[in-house]
Amino acid sequence: MTDNSETSIETRLAQACHYIDEVTGGISPPLQMSTTYSRDADYEYISDYSYSRSNNPSWQVLEKVCADIDGGVEAKCFASGMAAVCAVFETVNSGEHVVAPRIMYHGSQDWLRRISERRSIGLSLFEASDLDALREAVQPGKTSIVWIETPVNPTWDVIDISAAADIAHQAGAILVVDATVSSPVTTRALDYGADIVFHSATKYLNGHSDVVGGILVSARQDERWEDIKWVRTLTGGVLGPFEAWLLLRGMRTLSLRFEKASQNALRLARHFEDDPRLERVLYPGLESHPGHEIARRQMTNGYGGMLSLLVRGDAATARQIAGNTRLFVRATSLGGVESLIEHRASIEGPHSAVPPNLLRISMGIENCEELIEDIEQSLDRVN
Ligand SMILES: *Cc1c(COP(=O)(O)O)cnc(C)c1O
Repeated sequence: MTDNSETSIETRLAQACHYIDEVTGGISPPLQMSTTYSRDADYEYISDYSYSRSNNPSWQVLEKVCADIDGGVEAKCFASGMAAVCAVFETVNSGEHVVAPRIMYHGSQDWLRRISERRSIGLSLFEASDLDALREAVQPGKTSIVWIETPVNPTWDVIDISAAADIAHQAGAILVVDATVSSPVTTRALDYGADIVFHSATKYLNGHSDVVGGILVSARQDERWEDIKWVRTLTGGVLGPFEAWLLLRGMRTLSLRFEKASQNALRLARHFEDDPRLERVLYPGLESHPGHEIARRQMTNGYGGMLSLLVRGDAATARQIAGNTRLFVRATSLGGVESLIEHRASIEGPHSAVPPNLLRISMGIENCEELIEDIEQSLDRVN
């Protein structure tokens, strides 16, 4: 790989940072499936590799590209987004304190609740749209991690990363940003002062609903980052070589996919914004969205493909509308090329703070008119 850091993110993604295999000239990296690596007659390792849980040649190009596009010093891939989330929280000691949004990805919050109950780690949840609430939630000297997600799933509130970083740093904490929904195509969280950025690579980075994976990118080499890498090796939440290979392949089209999904989402959001059959459309690209001003500053290349419809009616009405769709696939997850619709409260379970009339949409890259028509006909069939 040559240093192409002055080129645009589109170019770097498409060319996997100008990857060319040094041995063969191949432009896609080889797949090394070996779990173990031999030593020579003097008992020295032949390469940098010893055992694939510790280090794996199939991760190298992927991690290099991920670090590069997010502007970090190093990236590490994990077996899933949640494996990466857990590795971060594994570095919090008992007696310390963590702050996170009240509405956020439910899996991360479920894990936080679990460790706070079992390991005497303090947990404060704040209203994502309210920075003063974050200021009040941090405990200087005690808070170890401020975890934010932006836009927040599934209200798509936008959190000002620079402001959150200042608040975290003044309290002596680090800021970790779950950037799954924004992707480095539109927001590079480290540029705004985050210390670590997290992506569920299952979503936009891979983009084809066929790999589960997670990525962490660090702004610097420090003790905590060393600890996170150590946790990955010892807890073994490592990405398989083939998954790493597929993920890198998916990432080559990330900017194209993200751009098209953003365009589709904005068109659909605008189309239904004033529709009397809906209570509200939540999308950070709409001027009516409370986070729009911050989004304009912080999401520099599209508002992404995620939006929510608040329907008029209850959970049953929302599920009926989802049931009426013909093109949208009724499924959880997001960031794939195919458009998905889901009744969010149904999947989150009893802790869910999500309104019962909320339908979450992940816009794909299909023909937008056909997607709009699909929602039109599903709304027509309820009333
Ligand atoms: C999916 C998701 C996760 C968890 O990632 P997995 O790859 O499913 O383990 C975390 N945060 C957000 C915002 C997500 O959408």
